Amino acid sequence: MTSTKYIFVLGGVTSSLGKGIISASLAKLLQDRGYRVTIQKLDPYINVDPGTLNPYEHGECYVTSDGAETDLDLGHYERFLDVSTSQANNITTGRIYQNVIQKERRGDYLGETVQVIPHITDEIKKSIEALGKTGDYDFVLTEIGGTVGDIESLPYVEAIRQLRWEKGKDSLVIHLTLIPYLAAAGELKTKPTQHSVKALLELGVQPDVLVCRTEYPLNKGLKDKVALFCNVDSTEVIESIDTSTIYNVPLLMAKEKLDQVVLKKLEVKSEREPDLSRWKSFLNRLKNPVAEVKIGLVGKYVELQDSYKSIDEAFIHGGVMNDCKVKVKMIHSESISNDTAEEKLGHLDGILVAPGFGTRGIEGKIEAIRYARENNVPFLGICLGMQCAAIEFARNILGMSDAHSTEMNPETQFPVIDLMGSQLNVQDKGGTMRLGKYSCKLQRNSKTFRMYNQETIEERHRHRYEFNNNYRKDFEDHGMMPVGINPENDLVEIIELENHSWFVGVQFHPEYQSTVNNPHPLFIGFIEAALKYHKNTDAN
Ligand code: GLN
Repeated sequence: MTSTKYIFVLGGVTSSLGKGIISASLAKLLQDRGYRVTIQKLDPYINVDPGTLNPYEHGECYVTSDGAETDLDLGHYERFLDVSTSQANNITTGRIYQNVIQKERRGDYLGETVQVIPHITDEIKKSIEALGKTGDYDFVLTEIGGTVGDIESLPYVEAIRQLRWEKGKDSLVIHLTLIPYLAAAGELKTKPTQHSVKALLELGVQPDVLVCRTEYPLNKGLKDKVALFCNVDSTEVIESIDTSTIYNVPLLMAKEKLDQVVLKKLEVKSEREPDLSRWKSFLNRLKNPVAEVKIGLVGKYVELQDSYKSIDEAFIHGGVMNDCKVKVKMIHSESISNDTAEEKLGHLDGILVAPGFGTRGIEGKIEAIRYARENNVPFLGICLGMQCAAIEFARNILGMSDAHSTEMNPETQFPVIDLMGSQLNVQDKGGTMRLGKYSCKLQRNSKTFRMYNQETIEERHRHRYEFNNNYRKDFEDHGMMPVGINPENDLVEIIELENHSWFVGVQFHPEYQSTVNNPHPLFIGFIEAALKYHKNTDAN
């Protein structure tokens, strides 16, 4: 293609309509037609990145391979497209202002009054065009967080208005809105959508395509009505109906011809239809499992579904590869103690202890791991979950009764998990953890090696604390084997328990790299072990 096309996705009426999934689905359809596609998320909050946010605020913090702490929508982009994203794919208002203020201090605007328009809007435009200018993409999709009408979205809408004007046919605006169903009237209502489009028009933006989220199918009459009142053709009113799995959405969008409408508007002649065969075969296996396992996800942010988004999705991918439905039961770590462990965990086929920070709920996590270790229940510990596995082992097998991480107990006699040397002088909390991709060498005779089937792997990280190598020998002598080591700094990345059905702790986050096309080997292996455990316990 001669020039990069820019597609903007803005939401209206309410949040949580699934802009990320619609963007990822459209991108998938374009990718499966052979185009090079990337998606970017612009978030109108003032945090420089979501790394400092509690998961209760915005759900999981997703980490890219270049070490950016980002919005969880980037996880969907990667899972759908199987293409790595980077810092450039997630920009917040905080970062935009930080850049502008740095330039002001440097003297880049010497003599000028620095203002929202043009300086902030120019910086937003620059961030959007940066991906296109790499020459790596035919399409750049830019999703704007929040809802049209929010005060904090205004500079973004203005930047899009300008880009739409400047780029003409090389750009397009998709507006995702809600068509609510009023049970009392027994009717779908278009008025909120009309108002939302009006709000956009007041800001100078005419949407080119409307994607309407709905509980019930939109008939022709309703599409015509929306079209007439919103200045679009009725073929440009796309139904986005509620569905049982997000992985259905690319197919639903293909059926609604979203990709065709977009290509037509952008005057791109596509030579081929999207090849969705691989996606369909994944969906087919997802919808027709032959077995089922129950996995306990032990964490402390269990009230909010999105807190462990990538883990949930990696379970779906790992389950599909085993033709197995994975029922994930969220278990609050604060509810687990020696007394309640059997009742809370006894019915499970596998236990995953989640990543996390701070003291709250830590003893419950350690107790859950004791239960998994003693009862031969398949166990996967991720980041803090791996650290807790080391603490549990030190306390209950090595006899170090007050063993701990210095994150929770700086005074412990046995700091089996300790602050990384590189973190000693770090004061700021934002973006200062050990972040992003690092390599790890696997021991050939380990279970982990068998799953990856390669000696050197690369995985993403997000932590400040590490396994304390002073205790390594003691652990090994008692059967907790460090089977994955960072070749540059000797950091223990993976521990594996001998004489156990499947007990693996990883300092990194495998869940970030699991995609539909490339389900993560550790999740495949974990579900396989859970299935085996399920069959064995069933037989007894
Ligand atoms: N709190 C731990 C650390 O900083 C673990 C972090 C995590 O689970 N992502 O090392």
